[in-house]
Amino acid sequence: MKPRVAFFDFTGCEGCQLEVLNFNLEIVDLINVVDIVEFREASSDHSDEYDIAFIEGSITTEKEIERIQGIRNNAKILVSLGACACTAGVNALKNFYTMDENLKLVYGENAKWYKTIPARPVHSVVPVDFFIHGCPPIRGEVIRLVKCLLTGKKFELYHDPVCVECKLNENICVYEKGQTCFGPVTRGGCNSICVNSGRHCWGCRALVDEPNLNAEKELLARYNLTVNDILGKYRIFNGTLEVAKS
Ligand code: SF4
Ligand code: SF4
Ligand code: SF4
Repeated sequence: MKPRVAFFDFTGCEGCQLEVLNFNLEIVDLINVVDIVEFREASSDHSDEYDIAFIEGSITTEKEIERIQGIRNNAKILVSLGACACTAGVNALKNFYTMDENLKLVYGENAKWYKTIPARPVHSVVPVDFFIHGCPPIRGEVIRLVKCLLTGKKFELYHDPVCVECKLNENICVYEKGQTCFGPVTRGGCNSICVNSGRHCWGCRALVDEPNLNAEKELLARYNLTVNDILGKYRIFNGTLEVAKS
């Protein structure tokens, strides 16, 4: 019997699910080896029986806490898919305001009808077995994880920082152009896609396992910058590394 796979969306833009749908030929291969029993972006089917649950999005309401606990109870393997699920991603920007401020900002005079809590990654609520980082995730990594799960091979995340791939791609470092970049402390595996296309790394794939923060500070100092100069940008994907307001 094929393993039963379910995709669930929590708070996010649903871009991670769209990226899975964009797999083209790979999605056909995927369907040949697993049964996709829940995937709201692609099908109206529902099931509470699944082996592997992919979770997109952050946890931002009390109801979502209950929902993710239920999914965890049903799933043998639970995977955080994408930055929102892995680090709370862009949703964590709300954590720098009080929840009342957020509700007023979004709902105005109707704020009293809504409830929200600071955004948190999935693993802060339930145990997570695997993480697929990125906004959106890299499709090859999703396929590689599924293959490992099906064949019993060990799945390992890319360990080196984005700078390694960036150098291999022979990019001119953006610091040389007066810009900033989180490549030195961010987990690679994306082939430095943002720098290759003329931008910088925003840190969407989270910190490497043992980030060399001193090297990042030294790099900043070389260009007359401090951590405070780049903190605002770093919060875009990694705000949960700082204290959340209640
Ligand atoms: S990680 Fe990015 S693409 Fe995925 S749901 Fe969050 S914002 Fe959207
Ligand atoms: S800091 Fe950014 S631009 Fe410079 S080498 Fe590293 S990833 Fe590339
Ligand atoms: S370069 Fe940085 S921001 Fe862009 S995909 Fe890679 S980790 Fe994410």
